[in-house]
Amino acid sequence: MDSIIQLMSAKDVKWMKESLKQAENAMNDGEIPIGSVVVAGDEKISEAYPRTNRDKTTSEHAEVVAIRKAGNLWNEERELTLYTTLQPCIMCLATAIRCGFDRIVYAAEAENEVNLEVAKEIERYGTEVPKITGGVKEEESVSLFKEFLKNQMEHFAYEYVEELMQAYN
Ligand SMILES: [Zn+2]
Repeated sequence: MDSIIQLMSAKDVKWMKESLKQAENAMNDGEIPIGSVVVAGDEKISEAYPRTNRDKTTSEHAEVVAIRKAGNLWNEERELTLYTTLQPCIMCLATAIRCGFDRIVYAAEAENEVNLEVAKEIERYGTEVPKITGGVKEEESVSLFKEFLKNQMEHFAYEYVEELMQAYN
């Protein structure tokens, strides 16, 4: 991962706090506690949490919803960063790559998802891939998932989150 990993900045902490607020909103709204924020330069363009439960639509992950809400990003010349409270899945990673993000910054690890080294593989084929930073406010994100496991036993994604949290037990 050496070539694609980047260290976090104070700005990353600020935007991850915003993402964590979205994750809290998600839990209050019956969704898995994941939040995402799209930032261009120093400006927040959009924020979102999953719609999978409310819309009964499997692909409505927080990242995908935030990127959709961000609108047309093609002419964006500022640095585009996708903040998200959980390591993105392959769909969200691909969406961020395809939509021209320069960076992805996430909080908690998701060992039950695809290893992000896959981005390095994609880079080999000449596609520009975002720099990736993990572990920003990781503990805060993990504590939201643990709270979810205490209170949302009937949730359709309970087993997924349970598996996710095995790495943090
Ligand atoms: Zn996803």
